[in-house]
Amino acid sequence: MQEELLQLKNDALFLILETETLDAINKITIQFLGRNGKLTTLLKKLPLLPPEEKPLSGRVANEVKKIIEETLNSQRSKITNQKFIQKQEKIDTTVLGIPPKIGHIHPITQMISEVIDVFKSIGYQAADGPEIETDYYNFEALNIPKDHPSRDTQMTFYLETKDVETTTPGEIILRTQTSGMQARVMEKMKPPVRVIVPGKVYRYEQVDASHGFEFWQVEGFCVDRHIRLTDLFGTIDFTLRKLMGEDIELKFATTNFPFVEPGVDTYIKCTVCKGQGCSFCKMSGWSEIMPAGMIHPNVFNSVGYNSDEYSGFAFCIGLSRLVTLRYQMNDLRLLSNPDLRIINQF
Ligand SMILES: [Zn+2]
Repeated sequence: MQEELLQLKNDALFLILETETLDAINKITIQFLGRNGKLTTLLKKLPLLPPEEKPLSGRVANEVKKIIEETLNSQRSKITNQKFIQKQEKIDTTVLGIPPKIGHIHPITQMISEVIDVFKSIGYQAADGPEIETDYYNFEALNIPKDHPSRDTQMTFYLETKDVETTTPGEIILRTQTSGMQARVMEKMKPPVRVIVPGKVYRYEQVDASHGFEFWQVEGFCVDRHIRLTDLFGTIDFTLRKLMGEDIELKFATTNFPFVEPGVDTYIKCTVCKGQGCSFCKMSGWSEIMPAGMIHPNVFNSVGYNSDEYSGFAFCIGLSRLVTLRYQMNDLRLLSNPDLRIINQF
C-alpha cells in the first residue's frame, strides 16, 4: 500500500510539473483527487488493510495527498503568472500614445503680459491690488466724494458689512476701477512714479456686446516734475500702436473725469466693422479704449504730494475691449464663455 502511494505521488508530480495550461491542471486534479480519482480510489482501500498497517499507511496517504495538492497549487500560480507576463509583453510600446489635453494661455492673460512688456520697455513697473476695495480708495481719494454725480456712471457692487462693527455700511465694495491703486501706490512711493495695475473690475451694469459686469482694465499713471499733456498723448500713441499695430487709427476727445483735469478720451477705429458702424461700436465706427487725463491736484493732496512741484497723468486701458478689438470679436461676452470651440481658436 505504501509503495503504491509513493508511486502514485511520483506519477502525479511528474504530470503536474509538465503541465503548461490551467486546463491540464484541472484535468490532473480530477484524475487524482476527484471522486473516482486514483488517490481517492486508493484511500478507499485503507479500511480494508490489516490493523497493524493502518496507522502508517494512513499517515503516508495524508502526506501524499498534501504534497499533490500543494504542487497543484504552486503550478497553478506559476502558469497564471506566466500568462500575465506574456500579456504584458504583448503591449506594443512603439504605438503613439494619446496626447493629454493641455490648456493654453487665455487671450486676456496673453494681452496682460503684452501690456506689461510694452510699459516695462518705457520704464513702468507693474503692481497688483485688491479686488475688494474700500470706498475711500476707489472713490474719495480720487476726488469723487460721496455725493459726486460721477458715481452714477460706475454702478457699484456693495459688500454686506452691516454686522461688521469696525466698518461703516457701504464702505467695502468690489472695485469699479483699477484706479483705486493710484492712491495706494502714491501713499507708499515718492515721485518719480511710473506704475501700471492690470486687474479685474466689477460694475452693476446691463450686460451687452461691449459691456460686462466684470471686465479687465489696466490702470496706469506717471508722476514726476514737468510732466505734460503731450507726454500723455505720446504714451497713449506709442503703447496702443505697439499693442494693436502701427496702422490703427486713433482720435482724442475732451472729456470729464473727477480725478483728472483736463480729461482725455481715446478712441480707436472699430476693427470689427472697420469704421462702418456695428453693434460693438454702437454704430459710431469708433470704440472708447483708453480714457486718460492729467491727474487732478486734489488727488495729489490726498496722498501728500505737492501739486505745485509735481504733475502727472493717469490712463485706463479697457483691456477686455482691447482683446475683442484685436481679434475682431463682435461680443465682449465671448471672452468669458466656457465653450471650448471659442477659446481653442486662440
Ligand atoms: Zn464697429
